[in-house]
Amino acid sequence: MYLLFRLNLNYGEKVRIKKAEEEFRDFLKKGKHRVTPERFEVMDFALDYDGHFGADELYIKMKTEKSNISRATIYNTLELLASCELLAKRNFGDGVTRYESSYNRKNHDHLICTNCGSIKEFSSPKIQKIVEEISKELGFDNTGYSFNIFGKCLNHKNCKHAKHNG
Ligand SMILES: [Zn+2]
Ligand SMILES: [Zn+2]
Repeated sequence: MYLLFRLNLNYGEKVRIKKAEEEFRDFLKKGKHRVTPERFEVMDFALDYDGHFGADELYIKMKTEKSNISRATIYNTLELLASCELLAKRNFGDGVTRYESSYNRKNHDHLICTNCGSIKEFSSPKIQKIVEEISKELGFDNTGYSFNIFGKCLNHKNCKHAKHNG
């Protein structure tokens, strides 16, 4: 419902959002969670967020766009969205839980610069293959994995600008 009001969405995006809404609604009902408009508003903003974000960043973004959703609702809705796999949960080693939309996005991994904080995304079929192989070997039905490479940018010029890429 809520996303449909966004003017910048094309038809394909609207269809995708509708599907995400249905998935989330089913998930909430199955888990006996309350289906509230607030939760869908958080979903709207979260799936629309470009890149990685923490709960507080989303809270600030929603506030600036005149939303009245409480911080607590944002925190618990993000956890619910992660449980139903519409969001991926990320830990980049700085103690902050971050999320990113995994809805209709390719599985990908991250390079994290511990100096400037930049986060680069990449995807490698090799890693995916290793995950499948190890899971099979150990008799495990994997539902996801996370692979982070920590280090420093080789390009020192860019790295000096300490940008905090959430
Ligand atoms: Zn990412
Ligand atoms: Zn860097």
